[in-house]
Amino acid sequence: MGQHLPREPEAPLRTEGPREVERVVPAIRTLEGAGFLVHRPFPKHGLMLIDPFLLLDEMGPIDLAPGEAQGAPDHPHRGFETVTYLLSGEFQHEDSQGHRATLAPGDVQWMTAGDGVIHSEMPSPALQQSGGRVHGFQLWVNLPRQDKRMHPRYQDKKAAQLPTARSADGKVWARVLAGEALGQKAAIDTRTPITYVHFKLEPHARVTQPIDPAHNVFAYVVDGSASYGPTHTQARPHDLVLFKRGGSEVTFESGDAPAELLLIGGQPLNEPVARHGPFVMNTQEELHQAFDDFHAGRFGQIPPEH
Ligand code: FE
Repeated sequence: MGQHLPREPEAPLRTEGPREVERVVPAIRTLEGAGFLVHRPFPKHGLMLIDPFLLLDEMGPIDLAPGEAQGAPDHPHRGFETVTYLLSGEFQHEDSQGHRATLAPGDVQWMTAGDGVIHSEMPSPALQQSGGRVHGFQLWVNLPRQDKRMHPRYQDKKAAQLPTARSADGKVWARVLAGEALGQKAAIDTRTPITYVHFKLEPHARVTQPIDPAHNVFAYVVDGSASYGPTHTQARPHDLVLFKRGGSEVTFESGDAPAELLLIGGQPLNEPVARHGPFVMNTQEELHQAFDDFHAGRFGQIPPEH
């Protein structure tokens, strides 16, 4: 593992203009945790990493009957961040640091696992009992070497605490999870420069989003269809659109129908990646240490509720 994509360009990076699309990557459908449906554009064969991003899972969308909702019971993480963004449904988070939170539609939990947590991510009792629609995203953001063993940190933001913006022509709506878009700055702090924006476009809308030429960036299509980059590459729901590096902006536009997507970018770490399951370190030795610490109980456990 440790394949870095897109590759380091041999020529100096172009610093201005719109980015070209490198390729469109369809998500695979798979089961995660106790058995809930996810669409996963990466990691998969041929696209193990979009440095600094390690994984993107789209939970559902799925309409569940009563008793059908599944979650991810107690499991550890070390060395990176998990970012959960919910569009439908309700989930409860508990962990070995004594942290508890409920996520409702539009809420974000940006969890920096750092040195290590054991957590559970479960549907709320109401969702378990009554069923309902589940739709959301989990992004894994790698941490730089110096932050991999940092004390765990949580940034829980309710939908109302997250900045939103609308374009001057009113056709584009954005919720800014990280970075900046349409003149709005995020409420969430990141360890390395990250952009994470949820865009909704009315028909015949166009977006030009500034992006640092050195950052990796991709779009993930949530709904509808849009076209991307100077060649107007088409993509459909569950497609990831990977842009080439170089160029100072990303462009996309809707056609006759509305479109909805996530735009995610960040500064590549360019560090070795040793990953296995819930641990992401720089070396095999650190990975073995993580397993040893976990099996020795050094990650603690989720305290009982009082
Ligand atoms: Fe987890």
